[in-house]
This record gives sequence, structure tokens and C-alpha cells, in this order.
Amino acid sequence: MTAVAVVGAGISGLVAALRLVEAGCRVTVFESGTRVGGKLRSETIGGVRLDVGAEAFLRRRPEVVDLATELGLADQLVEPVGRRPAVFADGAVRGHLGRTLMGIPADADEVRIPLRWNAGADTSLGALVRSRLGDEVVERSVDPMVSGVFAAHADDVSVRAALPALAARLDEGAPSLGTAVTDVLGEPSDEPVFGAFRGGYQQLLDALTEKLGDRIVLGAPVPEVRPKWSLRGSMFDAVVLAVPAPQVARLVGLNLPELGDAVSRIPAASSALVTMRLPETTPLPDLSGVLVATREQVSAKAFTLSGRKWAHLPGGAVRLSFGRLGVSRIVDDLDAGLIGAAREDLANVFGITDEPEAVHVQRWYEGIPVYLPGHRDTLTAIDEATPAGMALAGAYFDGVGVPACIARAESAVQKVLADLS
Ligand SMILES: Cc1cc2nc3c(=O)[nH]c(=O)nc-3n(C[C@H](O)[C@H](O)[C@H](O)COP(=O)(O)OP(=O)(O)OC[C@H]3O[C@@H](n4cnc5c(N)ncnc54)[C@H](O)[C@@H]3O)c2cc1C
Repeated sequence: MTAVAVVGAGISGLVAALRLVEAGCRVTVFESGTRVGGKLRSETIGGVRLDVGAEAFLRRRPEVVDLATELGLADQLVEPVGRRPAVFADGAVRGHLGRTLMGIPADADEVRIPLRWNAGADTSLGALVRSRLGDEVVERSVDPMVSGVFAAHADDVSVRAALPALAARLDEGAPSLGTAVTDVLGEPSDEPVFGAFRGGYQQLLDALTEKLGDRIVLGAPVPEVRPKWSLRGSMFDAVVLAVPAPQVARLVGLNLPELGDAVSRIPAASSALVTMRLPETTPLPDLSGVLVATREQVSAKAFTLSGRKWAHLPGGAVRLSFGRLGVSRIVDDLDAGLIGAAREDLANVFGITDEPEAVHVQRWYEGIPVYLPGHRDTLTAIDEATPAGMALAGAYFDGVGVPACIARAESAVQKVLADLS
């Protein structure tokens, strides 16, 4: 029987392991931590299970819904109630974002000079939008969205990697940014954009863990991967590395230096989440959350009013996220400092000073990969440097969200199976 090692038991590693087992392989999943899930983590806060890493998934992609259905969890999927987020700009909560693509409006006034874009080119989202729609759109609309998803400023994030459909439309010769955005957005739809698990991501983790059983070894950090293929003193026919890019660089740096170099070109941003349960009587606004514009006097980059966004959560559940690429000092602050900053922000943005009933602080060091301009070239270099019998999976490839991680894990498994055959 073919023996395959999977390093990392986040969603990427768990899905890769599941597919390898289904393909008839003998699988061992090595996880350095004492629990599975990586950035999928649910905690009980004030008696309620809340996610303190990822909390939702893009429903318009099929992967999470398909996996949940396969695992018998389809009836545990929930949708948001339909409230929308607003933006905090110039010291006040402003109106909702209109229909946008990652904060790029389709109908903003655009410079009249023709759009110049070389097919195959790349630049930052900030530079593209600034040149067509001006600084204000970047600071009040694109930056708040990009910071929420990629934990980086729009000026640090690649158009081609973050919004491949937009880049493709520009390659085809879209006459303006607005036309390209409109084309990518397509017809307005009433379908919910996001979904979540009623009992948090823990439900998905429990179902995957049950399928994989004692193939998962917890508390088993892999310090080094040696071709072909030695890990923690055992030999394997193939290996799937399902750990974030900085860890891949550390794992392979000595033995596969070209791969290590390519992977270490991808930076990762650290962030912290303060999740609170406020009293049910707290007068939270009728919004799903608030995104913060650039240069505001607010420490958080986003507020999710989870209890307003989801019907299954108690009304007072809120979470504030802190930290972007290059702005990580606050992430290192003591818990008391982060909680203090969160409470100050709640007071300044919503006028809320209620004492929380329960608080949880979670830090995610190097938690979100940043797709710098040129990211696709880095991925090509990674592919070229990845030897037969090894495959890589994770959020640094084709999207940071959980659906994209599942898709990448499945394609990583296809690669090792093809190599083995
Ligand atoms: C704060 C935050 C909020 C997010 N919100 C959302 C959201 O709402 N929706 C969404 O779709 N996505 C969201 N994401 C993104 C998404 O959660 C992640 O991209 C995804 O979970 C990454 O999964 P992964 O398995 O690739 O990596 P990870 O979850 O990082 O898992 C990697 C695992 O490998 C282990 N590991 C690392 N090194 C080693 C080693 N040497 N040996 C053994 N084990 C090792 C780690 O302990 C970890 O368990 C969010 C991310 C963050 C940080």
C-alpha cells in the first residue's frame, strides 16, 4: 500500500488526507498542535460556541457546501440574515458599501482616458483603482475590504492573484475598470454570498476527524522533510505539505533550497481577534459589521457584529480584528491591551461602553498569506521547484478562503497520485 505523509491538520491537510484515504493510500497526518483545524477554531465564550478564526465561507463556490453534504452536515449550514456592513470613515459610520468587487465600485466616476493594460500584466489593486477612480475610493472602499480578506493594504495586493477574473477581463481588453468590474459581478443575485456552520467550524472538524481516526497524530511537529521521503524518522512514498508558506520554507529550506527560496517570497500577515459576548440589551446597530477606512483613529481594521449577522448566534456576539501586513505591533500586545483597544474602539465607533460578559483573545501569527504583485510568477517558481512525490497545499495558492484551500488540497492530491502512478 502506498504510504503518504500529510504535514498539517488544518482544513487543507484534513481534506488532502481524506482524499488520499479514498484513493487507497496509507495516510499519516502529522500535526504540531494539540488539536486539528489550524485557523478553523471554535471556542466556547460566555456559554456559546463561537469561531475565533475563520467564521464563514464563500457560498458561491461549491467546495464547502459539497464537503458538508458529503459528510452529512448539509442541514447544519446557515446563511446570514441579510444585514450589510458599513464603512467607518472620517470619524463616523457611513453608508453601506454599494455593489462592489472587493470594494471596487462598478459605477464610480472613472477618468475618461482609455484604460491601458498589457495582457498578462500585474499591479497592485491600490495602484489600479487609484489610477482610474482616485485615492478616496481606495481608502474608503477597497482598502477596508482588502484589509479584511488579505490583512494587507490594497497597495500590497496583486490584482491578478486576488481577483483573477478581473485580471482576465482586463486582459481581454475591457475599455474601463467599471466595465470589467460590472462584467465580473454579473447579474445581481438574491443567493446568499456567505454561509457558516450552525455549531461553528468545529462541526466540520469533528466530521473530518471521525473519518480520519488515528491516522492523525497530534503533538507531532515535523522539523524537516528529506527527499524521498523521510519525516520524523519514517519513510513515505509521497508527502503533502499542508502548512503555511513560512513553515514550508523552514521545512524544505535545507534539502530543497530552490523551493524554499520561492516559497519564502510570500509574506504572511499576523492578526489578532477579540471576540466578545456583550449583554443582549447592548444597543448594537442594525449592521452585519463595520470596515475601517485607511488612516482612521481606530485600532481595529474590522468589526463583525456576529449576533446581528447570523440568526443562530446571540445578539451580543461581536468580534474585532486587528493587524495588517506591516502593522503587527498591536498583535503582540498583552491580552489586556488588546481588550482595552477593542473596548475603546467600540466606544468610539458605536458609543458602546457596556461591560462584556465574556471575552476571548486569539492571535494568528503569520496567519494570512499576502499575494504581492507578481504572486502568480512566484507560484510558477514554486511549481517548477516542487519535486515528484511532493505536493503543496494551503491558502497561499489560489485564494485564502476555506473553499479555495479545499480545492487546492484536492488538486495537490491529484498531483501526488499522478506522480506515484
Ligand atoms: C483571523 C482569520 C479569519 C479568517 N476568516 C475566514 C473566513 O471567514 N472565511 C474563509 O473562508 N477563510 C477565512 N480565513 C482563511 C482561512 O481560515 C485559512 O486560509 C485556512 O483555514 C487555512 O487552512 P490551512 O489548512 O491551509 O492552514 P492552517 O489552518 O494554518 O493549518 C496548518 C496546520 O499545520 C500545522 N503545522 C504547521 N507547521 C507544522 C509542522 N512543521 N509540522 C506539523 N504541523 C504543522 C499547524 O499547527 C496547523 O494546524 C481566515 C483566516 C484568519 C487568520
